[in-house]
Amino acid sequence: MIVLSVNAGSSSLKFQAFDMPEETVLISGVFERIGMKESFYTIKLNGEKIKKEVELKNHERAMELVMEELIDNKIVESLDEIKAIGHRIAQGGPYFDKTEEMTDENIKKVKELSVLAPLHNPAAVKGIKAAMEVVPNALQTGAFDTAFHQTIEEENYMYPVPYEWCEKYKVRKYGFHGTSHKYVSSRMNEILGRYNTKLITCHIGNGASVSAIKEGICVNTSMGLTPNSGLMMGSRCGDMDATVITYMMQQLDCTAEEMDTILNKQSGLLGISGISSDSRDIEDGIKIGNQRCNLAQKMFTNRIIDHIAKYYVELGGCDAIVFTAGIGENSIHTRREILDGLAVLGVKIDEEANDCRGIERLITTEDSSIPCYIIPTNEELMIARDTYALYQQKENKKELEANEII
Ligand code: AMP
Repeated sequence: MIVLSVNAGSSSLKFQAFDMPEETVLISGVFERIGMKESFYTIKLNGEKIKKEVELKNHERAMELVMEELIDNKIVESLDEIKAIGHRIAQGGPYFDKTEEMTDENIKKVKELSVLAPLHNPAAVKGIKAAMEVVPNALQTGAFDTAFHQTIEEENYMYPVPYEWCEKYKVRKYGFHGTSHKYVSSRMNEILGRYNTKLITCHIGNGASVSAIKEGICVNTSMGLTPNSGLMMGSRCGDMDATVITYMMQQLDCTAEEMDTILNKQSGLLGISGISSDSRDIEDGIKIGNQRCNLAQKMFTNRIIDHIAKYYVELGGCDAIVFTAGIGENSIHTRREILDGLAVLGVKIDEEANDCRGIERLITTEDSSIPCYIIPTNEELMIARDTYALYQQKENKKELEANEII
């Protein structure tokens, strides 16, 4: 059965078509510059990449082209074969703790939560509506970046601010990258061969977060109300003294919106190095003795080590630490610095094993107190799995109802 995973951004749309339950990727693609000049899309099929320059007026046009590609490349003969489409949604707020069918009522909730994710949730709604328009008979589901973190207890998700802020304005920790933390933690449990585990998962990409997971359930995570909290990131500041914000707004005489842009787009590795938000550029800078790149990298890894140590205590130990996402999977240097920083806990890096990129692997020695692994993330597959499971549930229910009537 064909299931699509869709990730719509404000001017982009990524998709992957899976054959389920085999989990084979049949075709994938990215549409860029939707609603802008010089729009184009790239399709990946049979190991080949094809770029096509076309006008992409809106998300619906992009979705129509997804369907044309599926038919032209003989992935399906008719659109009726596409039974379910799973959409990635950033903010599910307090409403969604798992992947859900996108009914009218649920779409309304996603829209309502746009105040908390103004760039992401409206784009996801566009993607869902476009898919509904183009494939009206398919089940549409929403997989939320926040859902996996809904198990976090109140004392960990509340901020020490006036209580009404949470009640009236929904101010609390929600966490993000949930689909990725869920995927790598369940894979980690598979590797360990047991589920009564305490895991610390580090999703370190341009955006970065660490989660503490006990027996498959998330007990804490570093991102908060928005993805700009916890760790230092490519261009986001993460945690710091909240008064820096009001103090600097006065000094720079800037608006809340301008400050938000600085803290999200001009801070982090970029802000400190003054060069780049990309960890590869920071590593190159370090190699030629750039002191600010050195400082940026130290600040970056220190914060990851701090969070791992905090969650180690919070979990009362740890059975495995997982590294994933762009930097976690690929930066030998960053992983080494983190593992060296954890030596006090008895963590011992296996230098030879760590000398790799983008593959699933144990990177600590046999006598390391905590085994540490690289597990490449696969959020699209997780979305497809959840969507397939929901589809199966609905079909089973239909069958039961039909049998009762008979
Ligand atoms: P993501 O947000 O997960 O796509 O991760 C993007 C980040 O991964 C980029 O900004 C890079 O900093 C980092 N990255 C990707 N490849 C490498 C690499 N080979 N070495 C170091 N960092 C990398």
